[in-house]
Amino acid sequence: MAIDLVPRKEWGARSPKGSYSRLDSTKGVKIHYTGGRVDPGIVDDHDRCVALVRSIQNSHMDGNGWIDIGYSLACCPHRKVFVGRGPHRLPAANGPGLNAGHYAVLGLVGSSGLVEPPDDMLHGIRDAIEYLRKEGNAGNEIKGHRDGYATECPGDRLYRWVRDGAPRPGGNQQPGRPGEPAPPWPGRDLKYPPIMRGDDVRRWQARMRERGWIIDVDGAYGPQSRDVATAFQREKGLPVTGVVDEATWKASWEAPIT
Ligand SMILES: [Zn+2]
Ligand SMILES: [Zn+2]
Repeated sequence: MAIDLVPRKEWGARSPKGSYSRLDSTKGVKIHYTGGRVDPGIVDDHDRCVALVRSIQNSHMDGNGWIDIGYSLACCPHRKVFVGRGPHRLPAANGPGLNAGHYAVLGLVGSSGLVEPPDDMLHGIRDAIEYLRKEGNAGNEIKGHRDGYATECPGDRLYRWVRDGAPRPGGNQQPGRPGEPAPPWPGRDLKYPPIMRGDDVRRWQARMRERGWIIDVDGAYGPQSRDVATAFQREKGLPVTGVVDEATWKASWEAPIT
């Protein structure tokens, strides 16, 4: 699928207050989030995405005194990619001295409200990265704003995804692939709290990762594992408990991968 760009005219961007510095190439891309609260209502209403990007541009130009929105591109939950400064132009969002090294790509999630990037937003960010490589001579690095700069940005959820190499959601799976026989049930429910550790946890996490879920394979069953189990149970019509019991364990292998 080709990138779905939202040109500046389409989102009502203001003209820049000065001229951009040209960039021939970068080492790669840094990923950002908004830092504040993002209204979860944007997921159902693209007009709100447009309004949010405009308000970010206003705060960058009027509050920070920048010539334009600081980001190269911005990605919304609808797999649309807003043109900020665009390729070959120095961004402003990475921090002093760091902008020439990487383009800046924003995902429209925040520190509260909408914090979990929807799959289509991750696809959009991936589209943006590939576009900047092709059109802006970006190198292969994919980093978070917090790499080399003291900030929470891009938030734990996006940062984890970045650290995993920014994979396309479900990218290594063919839709509708049948499952496979489950390994023997370990004989204990995997649940949180408190955090449970073990090879059984690691094995289940690895399987969920294989199924396309964003999950750390660290052998510790904490909030992230519980959230994945909950979402998986909901998807498969199992009792929604967040506990990997025998039925959920079995389904984690044997249920078709959709
Ligand atoms: Zn940032
Ligand atoms: Zn949108």
